[in-house]
Amino acid sequence: MTDSLVQPADWLLEVNNLSCGYGDGSVVRNVNFALSHGDIGCLLGPSGCGKSTILRALAGFLPINTGEICLQSSSISLPGRTLAPEKRRIGMVFQDYALFPHLTIAENVGFGLRREDREAKHQKVTELLKVVHLQDLADNYPHELSGGQQQRVALARALAPEPTLILLDEPFSNLDADLRRRLSLDVREILKTLGISAILVTHDQQEAFAMCDQVAVLKDGGIQQWDVPYNLYHEPANRFVAGFVGQGGFVPGKALGPDTIESELGVIRGNRAYPWQPGTLVDVLIRPDDIVYDASSELKPKVVEKTFAGTSTLYRFRCSEDTEFEALFRSHLDFHLGEHVPVRVEADHLIAFERT
Ligand code: ADP
Ligand code: MG
Repeated sequence: MTDSLVQPADWLLEVNNLSCGYGDGSVVRNVNFALSHGDIGCLLGPSGCGKSTILRALAGFLPINTGEICLQSSSISLPGRTLAPEKRRIGMVFQDYALFPHLTIAENVGFGLRREDREAKHQKVTELLKVVHLQDLADNYPHELSGGQQQRVALARALAPEPTLILLDEPFSNLDADLRRRLSLDVREILKTLGISAILVTHDQQEAFAMCDQVAVLKDGGIQQWDVPYNLYHEPANRFVAGFVGQGGFVPGKALGPDTIESELGVIRGNRAYPWQPGTLVDVLIRPDDIVYDASSELKPKVVEKTFAGTSTLYRFRCSEDTEFEALFRSHLDFHLGEHVPVRVEADHLIAFERT
């Protein structure tokens, strides 16, 4: 019983001040985030930053050192108290599909349904195979399926016991780029249709953005920013997030006022005010889509690199040794290496950090 009068927030999952690791130390420190019912969250970060470690703690395979994990407002992990994985109603999907090779697809999906009678089990498996578009392969064996199909079987198997939350650890890493993209959208649609919440672990930012509602950017075991993809891209909280998310680089500049910076690319004005004194030295984030071609511009940097990518071409421009930036142009705007091209900055979102 609680005698608090405060209504609990309607979170499905709450992670408060979580630290955990292996042996004595913690590789994950002071992690905080919360996921709403039906949302797909993401842990995004470079290899080794602690994504899988957080997932293991959520699943109940790893005890926690500080903080608390709550699922549907009940505590499932506290220091010294870890609810067993099988009691959490959390499903998992891993990178290697881990299907049982000697069981058919239908048997694989039904594996966790021990309590249901034959008829109920059959019905559920049939339904789930339909959801993942594999109803015609029920009697096949895993080795007869493609990687993408196998991963959908793994998802159906994880969904069968009707978990409250699904954890997906780099589920598409073994698949080629095209299939990855399609499957991540498929999986999003399946989870949304069923109203199942999920946490996806990935190091692939495209995948995170395409599939997830909220994304945590992690570095060295800590969350740098937990936000919607749009804000991570346009309002990065710090230099690491700015560099890790999206393309682009920094050019040096000097603040003229709270929303205005002078640089070799001219005067850049943005939509937010920084608490800078005029004259403060800053680094301005320039994304390839912040640069437009403008025949009348007096700014004419030199092309130093050119990467053709079909419908568009990525150029690297140099104004001086200190100021280089990239620009993405439709590929019919074709410039050669060494050419001076008239461009200007067209950025609504001024992202800059004080130079340290
Ligand atoms: P990610 O999933 O982001 O690539 P992990 O969570 O797997 O990263 O690993 C985070 C850190 O914890 C790494 O430095 C890794 O070497 C360490 N680590 C992972 N698993 C173990 C383990 N079983 N025992 C000891 N250290 C581990
Ligand atoms: Mg991992």
